[in-house]
Amino acid sequence: MRMQTMLAHFGEETFHGAVVPPLFLNSIFTSNTFDEMKAPDTPYRYSRMGNPTTDMLEKKLAALDNGEAAKVFASGMAAISTTLLHFLKQGDHVICSYPIYGGTYAMLSGWMARFGVTCDFVDFRNLDNIRGAAKPNTRMLFTEGYSTMFMDVFDLRGAIEISKAHGWVSIIDNTCATPATLKPLDWGFDVVVHSLSKYLSGHSDVIGGVVVSSRDTIRKLTEIEVSLIGGSLPPFDAWLANRGIRTFGLRMKQQGESAMRVAALLAGHPQVERVNFPFLPGLGQHELAASQMSGPTGLLSFELRGGEPAVRRFVDALRWFKLGVSWGGFESLVYATAIGWQREQVAGTEYESRVDKLVRLSIGLEDAEDLLEDVEQALARI
Ligand SMILES: *Cc1c(COP(=O)(O)O)cnc(C)c1O
Repeated sequence: MRMQTMLAHFGEETFHGAVVPPLFLNSIFTSNTFDEMKAPDTPYRYSRMGNPTTDMLEKKLAALDNGEAAKVFASGMAAISTTLLHFLKQGDHVICSYPIYGGTYAMLSGWMARFGVTCDFVDFRNLDNIRGAAKPNTRMLFTEGYSTMFMDVFDLRGAIEISKAHGWVSIIDNTCATPATLKPLDWGFDVVVHSLSKYLSGHSDVIGGVVVSSRDTIRKLTEIEVSLIGGSLPPFDAWLANRGIRTFGLRMKQQGESAMRVAALLAGHPQVERVNFPFLPGLGQHELAASQMSGPTGLLSFELRGGEPAVRRFVDALRWFKLGVSWGGFESLVYATAIGWQREQVAGTEYESRVDKLVRLSIGLEDAEDLLEDVEQALARI
């Protein structure tokens, strides 16, 4: 089964021949008898722990990442924080790449310190930085497949080799790369997490997250942390995500194609200092990106020579790109780090001077010609 066929049919149960599976909004599932209720394999009792609608989505998401099992959560952050709390205990040390998603940074840089967990954020573009950060109490390597805002890629094979040699657990947030372009479990990562709120649902109407891993890890995570922390995805959102994900492959293809054209336009413009989109030949990290990802996504950023004033004029001049946080939906969006971003993440690094110049575009499903015209006219007005 190829990807779009799988997304159309896999994991779905049919009732009365209905093409679209029903939505089980139940909180409670009852049993007929004492013995039936007592049986350990009773599939559903209470929706915090499991629900047929969320199950169908989980089967699909596990298959999409070539994983054995998946657990869906009420947000990407619930998936990430639950995973961190599952694997880490007092005294453990984490090595994390930067720049990283803001919530992950806040969790690992400060919040987890309350429980005695420490973290070093290092530049994964040079693997020696990972080796140099190793400590006797290091327990976890955490990274992203295609990095937040600056769109870096890292040598995943090299990073996983180091992690395995030390016996660390390796976690990758693959929200930006998506399973359409990168399947980190195939590369040897132990756990992959995604926000469902971006490309996977794709319609800007769901907040959700997922953890994909071995059957054993997902079972333990569900029995312990999902049960205790309770960040389960509500069934209605699972139903919407299952509806949105049916077109995932088509959306990624279209948005990636349009992004290639927008990136090419930007790369040739005199006001643009740098384009962060490694899928375009000739741009930074192209060979590495091409060697480990199967194609582009619709997410890119670029840096304007004129700094914040130029960024402000560009953003305000756009017509089809709406100004907003997040990305990955059917609609084109723009965001600029000068509006607000965790600068402390990159203090004292080469990234610091790039924060005021950086514009991120999430390419939507509008006609590419309209998006190109929009970018062109906004560039003309900076
Ligand atoms: C959005 C995002 C998250 C958080 O997901 P939510 O669903 O918003 O909680 C985590 N990681 C990355 C890379 C993201 O882009």
